[in-house]
Amino acid sequence: MKVNAAVRTAPQTTEFREYDMPDIPDEAALLKVEVAGICGTDVKFYSKPPFPGPVVMGHENIGYIAKAGKVFQDRRGLKEGDLVFVEHYVGCMNCEHCHRGDYRLCMFTDWRKFPEGLRFGYTLAERAPHLFGGFAEYMYLPWNSVIHKLPNGLNPEIAGVVTPMANGIQWALFDCRVGYDSKVLIQGPGQQGLCNTVASHQAGASLIIVTGTSKDKKRLEVAKKLGADYTIIVDEEDPLERIMEITNGEGVDVSLDCTAGAGTIPTLLGVEALKRKGGTLQFQGEDVPEFPNFPMGKIANKYITIKAARGHNYESCELGLKQLNSDRYPFELMTTHRFGLKDVHNAINAVGGSGDCIHVSLLPWE
Ligand SMILES: [Zn+2]
Ligand SMILES: [Zn+2]
Repeated sequence: MKVNAAVRTAPQTTEFREYDMPDIPDEAALLKVEVAGICGTDVKFYSKPPFPGPVVMGHENIGYIAKAGKVFQDRRGLKEGDLVFVEHYVGCMNCEHCHRGDYRLCMFTDWRKFPEGLRFGYTLAERAPHLFGGFAEYMYLPWNSVIHKLPNGLNPEIAGVVTPMANGIQWALFDCRVGYDSKVLIQGPGQQGLCNTVASHQAGASLIIVTGTSKDKKRLEVAKKLGADYTIIVDEEDPLERIMEITNGEGVDVSLDCTAGAGTIPTLLGVEALKRKGGTLQFQGEDVPEFPNFPMGKIANKYITIKAARGHNYESCELGLKQLNSDRYPFELMTTHRFGLKDVHNAINAVGGSGDCIHVSLLPWE
């Protein structure tokens, strides 16, 4: 039997390939992919692959255990037919980070520096048994895959939002300590920004401001339904002026950068928008290798804590799934688009396109 897979072979290029159905050893399993979520990282790497060579993309994967080895079943308490979320990090399970549930920090998942490492959606498809990404009918789950069983009743398409939801919990709550009465600025109303909005609101933030551009009007409307108190359109009004007006000149406790690619702008706005002393600034820096006018003096004077955004840990995934399974927030407003496997090219580009698109589900069997 053969497995159909969409393979990125060059920038903006997908080829469809058939791979042999892999043999499943005792300690491994096979996932029948139900939903592969697509995020801004896919948009970036589809246009600019981080390294040459074919890759089955898809790193936010929900599916059914289709086949499970005996040892896998005994160790995991999972059986064939179970609906699960598979994290894209595949840790060594032996280092300090893995033991703490911080697989994302494990050397083994760092495909940039450690080519032997494994990561769903990033690993080269040349490597047997080839099925290491969710843009395919099946995915191979080695012994060290990190798997979360879905709570009963959670719809797979909503569950497909778990990666940004886990990021929201990790960044806002665990890293930046948003909690009761926090005042939070969230820059960018895409899936990451919206999930940070939900996490902040659920945690008790008393003020949530979400920024976007004039292309993001629909996303900003959704932000309000998910807990934002104010939205600011940064190319129509002065964001700092508005933030100071809203906070009576006090500023915010936490600034979160969820813009995915706005360069140094969100960092600079965040530094200004934070309260007089002791705020926390989270940033995404990988696309900004240098920052010549980094406001060191102001950061020191304002006693700002800086946190880099770096994925999610085990606990934030578990909490993310619970959050998605609660009826507190209308997550169905986020799952705006769905595509079949043949449309993967359009599906990825839809995420990077108009502001009407929030979360895209790729359904390999549709
Ligand atoms: Zn992602
Ligand atoms: Zn490790």
